[in-house]
Amino acid sequence: MNTQTTRKDWVSDQEVRWCPGCGDYSVLMAMQMMLVTAGATPENTVFVSGIGCSSRFPYYMNTYGVHSIHGRAPAFATGLAISRPDLDVWVITGDGDALSIGGNHFIHALRRNINIKILLFNNQIYGLTKGQYSPTTEIGHITKSSPYGSLDAPFNPVSLALGAQGSFVARTHDMDRQHMIDMFKRAWLHKGAAMVEIYQNCNIYNDGAFEKITAKDARADNLIPLEHKKPIIFGKEKELGVILDAADGNVTGGPSVNLRIAKVQDVGQDKILVHDETREDSSLAFALSRLSRGVFEPTPIGVFRDVSTPEYGAQVADQLDGVKAKKGTGTLKQLLRSGPTWTVD
Ligand code: SF4
Repeated sequence: MNTQTTRKDWVSDQEVRWCPGCGDYSVLMAMQMMLVTAGATPENTVFVSGIGCSSRFPYYMNTYGVHSIHGRAPAFATGLAISRPDLDVWVITGDGDALSIGGNHFIHALRRNINIKILLFNNQIYGLTKGQYSPTTEIGHITKSSPYGSLDAPFNPVSLALGAQGSFVARTHDMDRQHMIDMFKRAWLHKGAAMVEIYQNCNIYNDGAFEKITAKDARADNLIPLEHKKPIIFGKEKELGVILDAADGNVTGGPSVNLRIAKVQDVGQDKILVHDETREDSSLAFALSRLSRGVFEPTPIGVFRDVSTPEYGAQVADQLDGVKAKKGTGTLKQLLRSGPTWTVD
């Protein structure tokens, strides 16, 4: 069967209703372009969303889609991915939907390694409800619900996903289409749960939240590209690099993995950390995710972790096959009456 599509095949007939200038438009475009080049097919693709601005995404894709319940998209997607392993199941969520209302679903989908691809649109604000602080809003940020400045320590979605042992964890941003396409393609290819955090500008309620690191003239000095098997260097002249701090560094599983940024000429090229996204132990990837204190100083982007671990749906299928082979198939009534039962007089 010819699976070659064009972008038109992925565009629905729905009018796109995000605010003009919203970063969501570029994410939508990147996704449609990626699916064309990947050779995916609309009839085998499903987008499941929760609630929020980004969760309108399924309407704009000419695929199957579910606009589900606040925070619960991973739960819907879990059932679908397990029962229909032939489908590509994407979850579209935001920082409020995934990390507050749906925090539990988010971490458990990653922990179980369900074969779903989670795109987390992080704009550090509740946009749909008009500008309240979210779980990723910076401390001190003034919003409609924090008029004297937010007091909450924000979540770092990459750290959270790595803490949940996510088997594929990446970060990208809405100002670089090619980087988004690359990250989405990697997620699409991954067998198991994939989480891609997207720094997404909400130009109405949190405009410029990421511009200190994603603006064109800031990128070279403030985005630290992570590339597998390559030294982690950045800067306009590639003059800066990430090193393991000798005082505390311990990559062999000790409690402290301390990374810092140094000038390459001061420490020598050999001291620069070589990125290995396939490391089983996630402590180094976690340390990379904690390298910056916020989106105002050098911040890693790219794939933090990509490891192969058993995929939950395949394990469920194997288990059911084993049970069928041993006990044969049965009916729901037999199942319900298979264990201890009580008769209530
Ligand atoms: Fe985009 Fe913000 Fe408008 Fe929502 S409120 S559509 S996130 S610009």
